[in-house]
Order: sequence, then structure tokens, then C-alpha cells
Amino acid sequence: MTQTLAIANQKGGVGKTTTCVNLAASLVANGRRVLVVDLDPQGNATVGSGVDKDAVELSNYDLLMGQANVESVRCQALKGGFDLLPGNADLTAAEVALVGEGEGRERHLLDALAPIRDQYDHILIDCPPSLNVLTVNAFVAADRVLIPIQCEYYALEGLSALLNTIARVQQTVNPALEIEGLVRTMFDGRNNLANQVGAQLDTHFSGQVYRTLIPRNVRLAEAPSHGLPVLQYDRSSAGAVAYMALASELLRRQRTNKAQVGDKS
Ligand code: ADP
Ligand code: MG
Repeated sequence: MTQTLAIANQKGGVGKTTTCVNLAASLVANGRRVLVVDLDPQGNATVGSGVDKDAVELSNYDLLMGQANVESVRCQALKGGFDLLPGNADLTAAEVALVGEGEGRERHLLDALAPIRDQYDHILIDCPPSLNVLTVNAFVAADRVLIPIQCEYYALEGLSALLNTIARVQQTVNPALEIEGLVRTMFDGRNNLANQVGAQLDTHFSGQVYRTLIPRNVRLAEAPSHGLPVLQYDRSSAGAVAYMALASELLRRQRTNKAQVGDKS
């Protein structure tokens, strides 16, 4: 069964794209078939996958507008072994067009992915830093939402708006949507505030906070400028080790969830 994960947080710069690209490469290293969907007009996941966002002939704009089929939009990451549905600034126009559309505007991505969904073990959707119609399309196409959190003073601010949006999608178009978990990113254990916020998250969201901490690591910041996941850039770096651990934890949680579902039936 395919697991479709929306990686979302309307705050910018919290590590969504870094998590998306590096989790993708780490899942591939575990033998999984992975597709990355770049839904952010900034196209950072596309660039970080080694694909020229401005040179692609077709992008998720064409896909969401129904002007191209998914096979013709799909390309491959330069290295890293995953497939990519690229995004770029054209997505801003898609957002405007979708907002103007009536009923059904939230289902475009779900419908567009349907023909290829079964070809993958994991589909990772990199969301824009906003709770807009593109993000809602991701929540409708996804089974689960992974929320990267940077442990700083304002980390929890805005989280309730994100959870409300998820709840609204659960109550309407996608009742099966679940929260996969919260991932603490750019973590610096020497920083007292980071430790306090990390502990606060554990209290408020017990069981939903990933054990794996993603440390602040310069290799993670450098890798995208080479169009590479950190695993292909410097596989012994702390960042590469952390994202391998995150992939292992995700796979472990997936097996546990499956076993629990099995228990119930
Ligand atoms: P978002 O997609 O949420 O906007 P990004 O993943 O693009 O966030 O991260 C924001 C910036 O921080 C980028 O320049 C990225 O390279 C850098 N970054 C992300 N995670 C880390 C990390 N763990 N250590 C160091 N730099 C990081
Ligand atoms: Mg991003």
C-alpha cells in the first residue's frame, strides 16, 4: 500500500523542503520506491533534487490545471533515486485559478496522482508555506501529514491554525487523513530554549513527536546548492545520519500502525 505524506507547516524556513528531499533519498536507501511532489511555487524541492525548475517543460501547474497527464510531468531526481513532479513559480497561477474554481478545486492533485500512485511505496508532498488551496490539495491527496517544527520561541504559534485546517479536511473531503507526527528540525541541544520547546511539544503532542531529532548541520544547508540530497553529498554527515534515522523511524511506525489496524480487524 502506498503511503502519501504531506509535509506541511505554514511557517517558512522550518525545514519542510529539507525533510522532504532527504527523507525521500533515505527511504530510497531503504529500498522503497519514492515520488516527491513539489507544490511550492519556490520550487526548492525541485532544485534540491537537481532539476532545473525553470527549464522543465511541464510542471505541477500543468498537472493541476489538467493540461498535462502525470506521466508527462514526471521526471527523475539527478541522484537520490526518486521520481519528481516538479514545481516552479507557475504554481502561483495555479493557486489563483483554483481559488476561482468552485466545488472540486481541492481534489485536483488527488485525481492527478491516481494513475501512478500504485507505482510507489511513498509519495512525499512538499507544501508551500501557507494554508492555501495548494496545501489543501496536498491534504486531500495525502493519508498523513508530517509537520516539521523548528524549536524556537514562536514554534507553537500557528500550529493551531494548521491543526484546524487538517480537521476541516478530515470533516469534509478526506476523513481518513491522519497526523503522522511532528519532527523537530534544526535542533541545537546546547540551546536551552530549543530544549524547553522540544519538551513542551512532547507534553502537548505525546506519542506524535518523532524521537529522531534533526540537528542543525551545515551539510544539510549546502547539499541543495549541488542539487543533491545530503546522503549523496556527504553520507557521513550528522544530517545524513539523522535523516536515515528519521526514515527508519517512519518505517517502524508504519509497521506498528499496520499491526494495530490488523489487531482491530
Ligand atoms: P521550508 O521548506 O520549511 O521553508 P527549508 O527546508 O527550505 O524550509 O529550510 C530553510 C533553510 O534552512 C534552508 O536554507 C535550508 O537549507 C536550511 N536548513 C534546513 N534544515 C536544516 C538543518 N537541519 N541544518 C541546517 N540548515 C538547515
Ligand atoms: Mg520549502
